[in-house]
Amino acid sequence: MTQERDNKPRRCDLLVRADAIVTQDGERRVLTDAAVAVTDGLVAEVGDYANLAAAYEPEQTLDLSGKMLLPGLVNGHTHLPMTLQRGLADDLPLMEWLQNHIWPVEAKLNETLLASGAKLGCAELIRTGCTTFLNGYFHEQITGQAVSDCGLRAVLGEGFFAFPSPFFATAEDCWNTVRALDERYRDHPRLRSAVTPHAVYTVEPDQLAESFELAESLDIPWQTHLAESPMETALCLEKHGMRPVEILRSLNLLSPRTTLHHCVDVTDEEIALLADRGVNVVHNPASNLKLCSGLSPVQKLLDAGVNVGLGTDGAASNNQLNMFRDMGLAALVGKVSHGDASAVSAQTALDMATRNSARCLGWPELGRIEAGCPADMCALDLASANLMPMFNPVSHAVYAATGLEVCMTMTAGEVLYLYGDFRTLDMTTLREEATECAKWARCAAGRGKNTK
Ligand SMILES: [Zn+2]
Repeated sequence: MTQERDNKPRRCDLLVRADAIVTQDGERRVLTDAAVAVTDGLVAEVGDYANLAAAYEPEQTLDLSGKMLLPGLVNGHTHLPMTLQRGLADDLPLMEWLQNHIWPVEAKLNETLLASGAKLGCAELIRTGCTTFLNGYFHEQITGQAVSDCGLRAVLGEGFFAFPSPFFATAEDCWNTVRALDERYRDHPRLRSAVTPHAVYTVEPDQLAESFELAESLDIPWQTHLAESPMETALCLEKHGMRPVEILRSLNLLSPRTTLHHCVDVTDEEIALLADRGVNVVHNPASNLKLCSGLSPVQKLLDAGVNVGLGTDGAASNNQLNMFRDMGLAALVGKVSHGDASAVSAQTALDMATRNSARCLGWPELGRIEAGCPADMCALDLASANLMPMFNPVSHAVYAATGLEVCMTMTAGEVLYLYGDFRTLDMTTLREEATECAKWARCAAGRGKNTK
């Protein structure tokens, strides 16, 4: 509620004006000729431009006339440094892709490469209006450093596999790394951690249970890949005599702390169980389509009451980290998989990429432009040829935008990108690093220097 004011303008750090603001607040208000006042990294107020211009005395102003403002998008599932393997192996099914192309290269990674990979990922997220992501990879303090330096926000998950891994000799080593990561970022304003066992087919049941206890003791989210493809279900049935959801149920790991990535191969009974236990699911349409994993029953999950966020998955299986593309795909594929053109509407897809993903991260105040919430926002340039004319900003964000119309990205009130200028990343150096990374990746994949 707006409080009664005396006539004296209040101070704020920044006043942002835009033609339209898609607030994603509880009522999904879309405001025209509107403004956002920002103070101490938080939204102080959002409303009519004329009212806010009279009420505030800003230190700085940002005039985004001709633009629409959206909450910064929240990527619910990615493996940020996998930009290193973008386009290295395409057109393969999940298991063959993982076992023969991804894991052998990952085994040879070093910290310098991971740092470059993470920075490349940050650049793409910033460029396409994503301000927060839920990660799962190795040496997460390196991604943490990149995120801390470039101004983004993230929940970092140190990945764990049971088979001999180049990263951890034992499960306890991984849990200790998670504890250290949590300790390191406990007071960081933009970084948090999550417990991240890879999947039910790569981690033993007792280790899954142990990892969940760790998440409970640290009071942080617990995330894993689950039911990604019928092949995974077949593996689980062969090894444990149970389907993937049943394995987690038998271990008592289905809870509101749980975020499951994919959930493609789930039955109606399993969907009801996920809803009943308050589990979060992240949908990754581009990755599911590219690896031919199947179509997730997203509308059924939503109808049952499951919180479904949206993610890109890694750049090796997408091959983008562009949430605008995944929003569009979620809406399009959702209609086909549900056999109904009204399924996964534009508003639903935008909710998934903002508010719902934020809940998947255990950070529900993100994904909206609302007083008291972090000032994480992005702007689309409405002068782009593909965005004229505009009848419905939400429709444009989901169906018409490609992500490259993003002209401003801001996290915690700090502008990270404006009109082609990356304010926190040196793109010239990053391009040079990317060239070196490509040479390494070709060698690591056993393709030699001169092979395409
Ligand atoms: Zn993944």
